[in-house]
Amino acid sequence: MQTECSLIEIAIVGAGMAGLTCAQQLHQAGYDVVVFDKSRGVGGRMATRRAQGTWADHGLRYFEDSPEGDLTALLSLLRDRGLIHPWTDHVQELGPDGQLRPSRDRHPRYVAALGINSVAKFLATGLTLHREHRVSAIAPTPAGQWHLTFAPPTPDVQAPDPVLAKILVLAIPAAQALDLLAPVPQIPGESLAALEAVTFDPCMTVMAGYRPHPTLENLDWQAIALPQDPLLSWISLESSKRSLPAAPVLVLHSSPSFAAENFDAPNLTEAAHALLQRAASVLQISYWQQPDWLQVHRWRYAIPQQSHHDRALAATQPAPWICGGDWCGGEGLSSAYRSGFAMAHQVNQWLEGRPLKGEQAWMDLVSEKL
Ligand SMILES: Cc1cc2nc3c(=O)[nH]c(=O)nc-3n(C[C@H](O)[C@H](O)[C@H](O)COP(=O)(O)OP(=O)(O)OC[C@H]3O[C@@H](n4cnc5c(N)ncnc54)[C@H](O)[C@@H]3O)c2cc1C
Repeated sequence: MQTECSLIEIAIVGAGMAGLTCAQQLHQAGYDVVVFDKSRGVGGRMATRRAQGTWADHGLRYFEDSPEGDLTALLSLLRDRGLIHPWTDHVQELGPDGQLRPSRDRHPRYVAALGINSVAKFLATGLTLHREHRVSAIAPTPAGQWHLTFAPPTPDVQAPDPVLAKILVLAIPAAQALDLLAPVPQIPGESLAALEAVTFDPCMTVMAGYRPHPTLENLDWQAIALPQDPLLSWISLESSKRSLPAAPVLVLHSSPSFAAENFDAPNLTEAAHALLQRAASVLQISYWQQPDWLQVHRWRYAIPQQSHHDRALAATQPAPWICGGDWCGGEGLSSAYRSGFAMAHQVNQWLEGRPLKGEQAWMDLVSEKL
């Protein structure tokens, strides 16, 4: 039996920073925009795990402005609304001699009391958003539209109904965009080559919570960067982000090489313990090896290593599509942000060229619970 598809003007795949930024611009300009994300939440790598009565940011570590000031207006709005607060400008760094010293990079870093993901929820305010909608295939129709099909969220559940869209926005990592675009024969070869050229570093994140213990009291550090360590790239005292921490919580980020070697390991807990052991040795407190609870998350596409030179990649064949994200023109949150604006600008040009609000769009959002 053929299912009748609903027709959307603009389908945005991916509810991370790039997708949400693009969606707000177009939605607030009056277009019919629907956002799809495969996860149960929003925010993509702006991710927070709720565990044991507290929060741990297991993706994006904190908010910071770029040297170009891309995030100045957004961060100041988020501060004014009480969504973020300053955390630290004092990250330590592990030198090649094994000694910790203050990093020379002293700029403010901001975090959210309820976790970084609470900011993503705010950015998604008012959007039509379908979670647990993994786009599994896209195909052009003879009428020049896109036909999107979805995978079932779990094997025992029916897949969501397919939809038709006039314009397709893929705000997802390049390799995932390539998986969707490559089977479509009319996609220009140079676009596929540009996507293939983008590479990402993986990361394994360990979240570990501890019972209060005398050796963990009066800690005088918040975060440590380990740029040259073979196992770890980052240690943060996650509980120092909250004003009323119940008990110490650590978040560890593996080095890209450790993540690549252990990504498909049958026993992730073993890999997590290797990272905890290393953290305990850096911090010189063996108790860090004995967490009360432990969670692990793997990011196949954590940080772009080789980016695309432009803010977005687009074509009108076989029907208008555009893709972008942090891998366009940079490598972090500010790149995703700028790419989101660039995609909205291009889509608006394909449609009616309405005035877009730019950063005013955030000022016009009224925080509401999603
Ligand atoms: C461990 C870690 C630490 C980081 N630390 C920093 C930092 O300190 N500073 C910094 O600037 N950046 C940092 N980043 C990077 C930053 O988080 C990203 O640059 C930014 O969040 C990317 O946003 P995005 O919208 O491009 O992509 P994403 O956030 O990845 O969003 C893409 C979305 O698309 C969805 N999706 C993918 N495929 C499909 C599909 N087929 N169907 C439906 N949905 C799909 C995903 O579920 C996801 O929600 C870090 C990232 C990680 C993982």
